[in-house]
Amino acid sequence: MEIKTTLLPESQRKCSTIKDAESLPFGKLRSDHMLLIDYAKGVWKDARIVPYGSLSIMPGAVALHYGQSIFEGAKAFMHEDGELYAFRLEENAKRLNVSANQLCMPEIPVDVQVEGMMKLLDVERKWCPMQPESSLYVRPFMIGTEDALGMAPSSTYTFCVLLSPSGAYYSGGFKHAVRLLVTERYHRAVSGGTGSAKCCGNYGQAFQAARFSKKYDASQVLYLDASNQYIEEVGSMNHFHITKDKTVVIPEFTDSILRSITSLSVMELLPSLGYKVRQERVKITEFLDGIRSGEIIEAGGFGTAAVVTPVSEYIFENGDILTVGDGGIGENTRKIYEAYTAIQTGKAADKLGWLQKVPHFQYDLAR
Ligand SMILES: *Cc1c(COP(=O)(O)O)cnc(C)c1O
Repeated sequence: MEIKTTLLPESQRKCSTIKDAESLPFGKLRSDHMLLIDYAKGVWKDARIVPYGSLSIMPGAVALHYGQSIFEGAKAFMHEDGELYAFRLEENAKRLNVSANQLCMPEIPVDVQVEGMMKLLDVERKWCPMQPESSLYVRPFMIGTEDALGMAPSSTYTFCVLLSPSGAYYSGGFKHAVRLLVTERYHRAVSGGTGSAKCCGNYGQAFQAARFSKKYDASQVLYLDASNQYIEEVGSMNHFHITKDKTVVIPEFTDSILRSITSLSVMELLPSLGYKVRQERVKITEFLDGIRSGEIIEAGGFGTAAVVTPVSEYIFENGDILTVGDGGIGENTRKIYEAYTAIQTGKAADKLGWLQKVPHFQYDLAR
């Protein structure tokens, strides 16, 4: 697909500002350009890279009223060879289409998505931060743009990709373990719903659970399924735990859990690190008993933004606290985090073929 590229003059680009930043926020900064592709009458067309700025959309757009809006999150890393490497963009593109299907939105061919993201990354390569734990975060999304209030899928859509030079998701990065509130009060998704899609509605409704968790000085809630029996996941990460015989257990992917690309990747990597891996329905009572008995030695979450995040404590609504291990960052969680991020950052060989070097393209410069 031809991508018309309209670049800001060099003098108006701002990328020098991130180089010396001592700590970068997650998701707040933007690069200079974005990618847009429109959909109408059954075809994706008019792909373009343009300066980052406001979108013009009608107040009656379906996305604004009925939430026909999906997104993805991926990362690119600058290696010591001075080249930019994107992490498994194809998997994100495939999952965007899974989400699109669930929201009755059109799929956008995986190769079109990946080419668009690669070209945008190429244009913005100088925006990739080099600070420890930082990356160039890639945020693709698609919205229904038709100006129609009838409750029906939009006939027109826009696919957009923006980039955010980012530091660690949880401030403090891997030095910091999170506390999770176990609650029966809020649920993220139900069977038959959209929990396995990365659609906006899932996240807007989760803000109230996050607000509630803050009352307990927790970072987030651990969601249970609607029957309050099984562990589902956290707002933006899958959950995992590690047993004393070195098995990493991740809750089985049901239709109310997002299939994390980080989880899938870590599962591929674990055997080479000497771990067994298992996915199964995890009963919350058995999980908590496992921590109490010492059978479960570590727990945490997997996600692109949060990478591998250790959990130090589970908090309960009655104020009780259950500490995992000694409440610090466990050696197994650390080992997984280090092995995984070493591949992403080019410090270890990419034996599983996760990284794709961002090519240096020739541009179809718009006039
Ligand atoms: C994005 C997300 C994850 C993590 O998925 P990755 O592909 O690893 O980034 C986990 N759970 C939820 C609810 C998410 O939205």
